[in-house]
Amino acid sequence: MEHNVNHATLDVDLQKLEKIINASTWLRNNQLEPCIGDRDCPAEADSYGTRGLSVYTAFIKSHDVDTYGCKYEPCRAYSTQCMDEAVRHLRHHHFDHSPYLCTPASGNTWYVSVFPHNRALVGN
Ligand SMILES: [Zn+2]
Repeated sequence: MEHNVNHATLDVDLQKLEKIINASTWLRNNQLEPCIGDRDCPAEADSYGTRGLSVYTAFIKSHDVDTYGCKYEPCRAYSTQCMDEAVRHLRHHHFDHSPYLCTPASGNTWYVSVFPHNRALVGN
């Protein structure tokens, strides 16, 4: 399944943000993404995501209290109770981004378990 194809419901600003993220040095180097409000975080994320949290929160949809989804149309059925998990979903499924060590705003360090250097091998 190809994930970056259908932008039908993705806001124009988010499409722009997606392009900026895809062109960023930190993504190419698999460094941890900036948080919203950071100097190196694209301003396009400001009005969508959660300040102080990952730039990817701009693509996270809040369904309900403590239920998070993904703004990409193919993921309309996706939901999780955990914001960190939703951020992981964005990294992994939409940006092919694999920082080895992730330190979310909660302060609980966790490790990404799959590092898809070759998308074909992983078979998303
Ligand atoms: Zn998604």
